[in-house]
Amino acid sequence: MSNTTSVSQISPVMATYGRFPVTLVKGKGSYVWDNQDNQFLDFTSGIATCNLGHVPNAVKEKLEEQLQNLWHCSNLYNIPNQEELAELLTANSCGDQVFFCNSGAEANEAAIKLARRYSNKVKGNESPTIVTFMQSFHGRTLGTLTATGQEKIQHGFAPLIPGFSYLPFNDIDALDELNSIKPAAVLLELVQGEGGVIPANQVWIEKIAQICKENDILLMVDEIQTGIGRTGTLFAYEEYSIEPDVISIAKGLGSGFPIGAIIAKEEAAKGFEPGSHGSTFGGNPLATAAGLATLTHIIETNLLDQVKVISEYLDSQLQSLKEKYPFIKDIRGKGLLKGLVVEINALEIVQKAITNDLLILTAGPNVVRILPPLTASKEEINEFIIKLEKTFQSIEKGE
Ligand code: PLP
Repeated sequence: MSNTTSVSQISPVMATYGRFPVTLVKGKGSYVWDNQDNQFLDFTSGIATCNLGHVPNAVKEKLEEQLQNLWHCSNLYNIPNQEELAELLTANSCGDQVFFCNSGAEANEAAIKLARRYSNKVKGNESPTIVTFMQSFHGRTLGTLTATGQEKIQHGFAPLIPGFSYLPFNDIDALDELNSIKPAAVLLELVQGEGGVIPANQVWIEKIAQICKENDILLMVDEIQTGIGRTGTLFAYEEYSIEPDVISIAKGLGSGFPIGAIIAKEEAAKGFEPGSHGSTFGGNPLATAAGLATLTHIIETNLLDQVKVISEYLDSQLQSLKEKYPFIKDIRGKGLLKGLVVEINALEIVQKAITNDLLILTAGPNVVRILPPLTASKEEINEFIIKLEKTFQSIEKGE
């Protein structure tokens, strides 16, 4: 029998993350503070989540208001915030109906379930296969880690879910395989985030969209990292001039309050009917208050115009750094989702940046991922470049 009263040295929190030695207790705009009151410039945005910066007033006020009224009531009753948010999402996308959940993985899980059920119940087609792409990242549930095209994410979790096929990303010739696989759906990221900040090629995407249309295959885009303005448009698919059947979103939608959703075209949404899918917390009054306030703020303040200007400025500054530091091999990404491809260890840069009061991320071993809030100012970009350059200099000196 285990002795539950014995003093243990192990952390009570499971070791699923390799954490940096920083304890954050406060945030405002582009900055966070640790428990020693040290201030950091946060260009991670909680991994593309705090798109309006930390504790944005527009969202805080609406959350405070909702806190006074109703926190939770279940999806057995109508939820006005949920309906308003669904209206706003469908009015500003090519989709017609929304299902709400609590995270990115749950959104993709819903997309996968919708595709299978649509294929099975609406089309009367037996094909349950979902095609995804190598280096993709779609989440950590058993379904979405199976969808993820990375062995390291799947390792140890066999048996995986049957009915997934993987094709190489941005490989136009490999798309011929879609004709023999005849999948129910294709699920892809328009900029692979975790996989190394790799944007999809326009011609490749157009070909996928064409094959999907001609063969009645659902085109599903995972906009969990790219969506809600991150790439400079509300959804990255807008930049590719395609119309997906299903869009999954999460991260930036709630400004840090957990929320996820899929937006589906009317035809695809027929895959679900009462009882076929659900979530206790999904779209509850608090979460949808946060989502509604976030999206309303982005739209009403024309924030995306500013994102275009700031991201071009960030590009130009990163290009200047690339000219100075030969270990920077490439600058990739869209809008304010940027990746610096480096010949040195990206994690070392991220760790060293912390000592210069700068928070940034990796995306694989050789890519430094930069995710400023969409509200970042030119002055904050300048401060970022100074801090990043200081970091590079200390690495070059071997400090
Ligand atoms: N899909 C993409 C593209 C992501 O970037 C992520 C998270 O990083 C997910 C899905 C999973 O989202 P969550 O961690 O909210 O489950």
